[in-house]
Amino acid sequence: MPLIVQKFGGSSVATPEKILKAARRAIRAQQEGNQVVMVVSAMGDTTDDLLELAAQVNERPPAREMDMLLSTGEQISVALMAMAIHSLGNKAISLTGAQIGVKTDASYRKARIKSIETSRMRKLLDEGNIVIAAGFQGIDEDFNITTLGRGGSDTTAVALAAVLRADACEIYTDVDGVYTTDPRVVPEARRVSRIGYDEMLELASLGAGVMHSRSIEFGKKFDVPIHVRSSFTDQPGTMIVAEPERPDMAVSGAAITKDEARITVEGIPDVPGTSLEIFKRIADRNISVDMIVQNVGESGKADVSFTVPRNELDAALEAVREGVRIVGAAGITSDDSVAKVSVVGLGMARQTGVAERMFRALAAAGINIQMITTSEIKISVLVRRDEAQKALRIVHQEFELDKEPTTPIEPWTPKSSQSDAADVIARLQGINMEDLTIDDIQLDSKQSRVTISGVPDAPGIAAKVFEQVAAGGVFVDMIVQSHPTSSGEATLSFTVPDEQLVKSVEVAKQVAKSLACKEVTSSPAIAKLSVSGVGLRTHTGVAIRMFKALSDAGINLEMINTSEVRVNVVVDGAAGERGMKQLQQAFSDVMR
Ligand code: ADP
Ligand code: ASP
Ligand code: MG
Repeated sequence: MPLIVQKFGGSSVATPEKILKAARRAIRAQQEGNQVVMVVSAMGDTTDDLLELAAQVNERPPAREMDMLLSTGEQISVALMAMAIHSLGNKAISLTGAQIGVKTDASYRKARIKSIETSRMRKLLDEGNIVIAAGFQGIDEDFNITTLGRGGSDTTAVALAAVLRADACEIYTDVDGVYTTDPRVVPEARRVSRIGYDEMLELASLGAGVMHSRSIEFGKKFDVPIHVRSSFTDQPGTMIVAEPERPDMAVSGAAITKDEARITVEGIPDVPGTSLEIFKRIADRNISVDMIVQNVGESGKADVSFTVPRNELDAALEAVREGVRIVGAAGITSDDSVAKVSVVGLGMARQTGVAERMFRALAAAGINIQMITTSEIKISVLVRRDEAQKALRIVHQEFELDKEPTTPIEPWTPKSSQSDAADVIARLQGINMEDLTIDDIQLDSKQSRVTISGVPDAPGIAAKVFEQVAAGGVFVDMIVQSHPTSSGEATLSFTVPDEQLVKSVEVAKQVAKSLACKEVTSSPAIAKLSVSGVGLRTHTGVAIRMFKALSDAGINLEMINTSEVRVNVVVDGAAGERGMKQLQQAFSDVMR
């Protein structure tokens, strides 16, 4: 019999009426001949209310007790859902994470799923029950209750669909699918009918709150098609699957991470291993770092800037101070009033001028870009928080994301999953479900780096630089712009194909002169090392492993960029081969 997982988010179970409505939907699916597993979130704003309650008795509540408390929200809603189904005359049974056997690691508030028991659920389903699973929770080895992080019920749902080899995984929510950006912020946003795992993973981790990003990791790893749809209607929503709607689109979505904070460490010795001392302490606290930009100034000192979630700024600063005590630095600055605006698209890897368009649109609106990082499929800029929503709307408009695609889209049809099932079961043997997996490590020795230093901190500079570069037909790969130092100047570096270096330097020199930048330097001999896999940013340790492997071999990092599917570092060309070997060794245990 086909098996279907239906997940209902907080707003879809916010009232008794809504619970009954969800119950009817599940019953209907069962009557249509499916076994049904429901995954339910806490009602409405329950989780927020519980957090507030905790804050009233303790400003820094112990994480274990927080999970004990937060898990109760879902326990209420599963029990009510089971009662609702009984009242409609059907069989149902509710289960907490512990009762199912959702085993996690012990990192409270952001626990990762290690394994899920299926026997109890299977037995109950075979007895004709609708099984109602509490989302967002599990237990660790010592039977402590853990939670998966805000929005984690999505991850429970997709993980259950994976282990049960469900035929469908439906996510019922208060929007009718995935939009080109948050429709609450940009009303012109358009619903997409289908989006690829990689794009969704990137969008979710860059702030598209419609799906918990780790749920997409599960989808990708275990090949679970995810259907995001409205709990208010029967209209089909958005399919999240391997094949995107339009793989050629330069930009297919935009996202905003509103609550970011920036940290800059100025004047640290530019020798291998210094940033490692800092980042490993941050990773030890399980804080995810993004937009890492490092630039080497005069006299062999470097500045490193990066962003962390705003609510983890204090903990991150504590980690940074510890690291700085060991390696020494001229100073630490931070700013908790910033936000990150990003565009994502598979097609940008093959097109020129995408970054330039984004920078130009922001410049025309007078929005200052404080930092830039890119990867193959995304461009992120850091801006002032009070300008971020405007920035999002502007880039959404610039890439015409509100317009329906003109070319017809092939409807998505499920593949036969017979062989996949065996493959997935084999992949599940002996691993923890959310463990890091790396599929590839690559060396690219065919690029060169151009760096413009002393770039004034004013709107429109990046736009002018890349306007000229794009006009010259140069294909830019990585772009990083550091945060301006105390003297108010930033450094802008980018990589280009070797054969375009001469032209790029020429263009850069002209622009630098017209904008009164300090100087242009370049290196024809760089090596770009890339590690690709699943969930690289949410596994805080990946960048650290790379830094450590390279620093142990005395290799210095020139540029870094990260995405959910890939981390790239640029090193001296002469060290490319050696770096590659180091990385292969460092990741040998997680290569698949
Ligand atoms: P649930 O409680 O069902 O899990 P969430 O509030 O977590 O629902 O997620 C749904 C919300 O996500 C929507 O109301 C919408 O405002 C927001 N959202 C953010 N980005 C997007 C996007 N790209 N597409 C659709 N919704 C988005
Ligand atoms: N109730 C949890 C939260 O609000 C989990 C979820 O809804 O996905 O974050
Ligand atoms: Mg949610």
